Amino acid sequence: MKLAKIKLDHLARHREVRSDVATYPKPTMHTDPNCIFCKIVAGQIPSKKVYEDEEVFAFHDINPWAPVHFLIIPKLHIPSMAQVGPEHQALLGRMLLLAPRLALEQGARPYPEGGFRIVTNTGTEGGQEVHHMHFHVMGGPRPWLRG
Ligand code: AMP
Ligand code: ZN
Repeated sequence: MKLAKIKLDHLARHREVRSDVATYPKPTMHTDPNCIFCKIVAGQIPSKKVYEDEEVFAFHDINPWAPVHFLIIPKLHIPSMAQVGPEHQALLGRMLLLAPRLALEQGARPYPEGGFRIVTNTGTEGGQEVHHMHFHVMGGPRPWLRG
């Protein structure tokens, strides 16, 4: 009787573990040694830093389309918005909340006359070139080169 109960407990635990794996099937590398944005976060490639905290890094786009154009990226290597999950909810919220504050700090004029644009290209057909998830934040007087 006791043995049977132990066996049942073991099976229940096993199922629990298996269902956890099924719910979170996205093992994400913390950094990718071949990723240009991971190298920027690590300081191996120079950048014009706009902001940094323990989870987020922001820097000027090297090829700006607008008078204000910077990128907000997670320090964690997430390839694109196609890989985000519930475990990234707080991180994404933190990144988005930074956008209005940093846009103003970088010279975008206040809403509603000013404002800014947030763009996240995802995948080849989404126009993504660097496969480390990032938010473009663009602003400043028109015309812009693109967008
Ligand atoms: P996306 O096409 O959405 O993947 O955007 C990638 C962006 O990264 C482009 O706007 C590039 O100009 C920018 N970028 C690429 N390399 C660098 C770099 N070393 N420093 C700053 N921005 C970069
Ligand atoms: Zn990366």
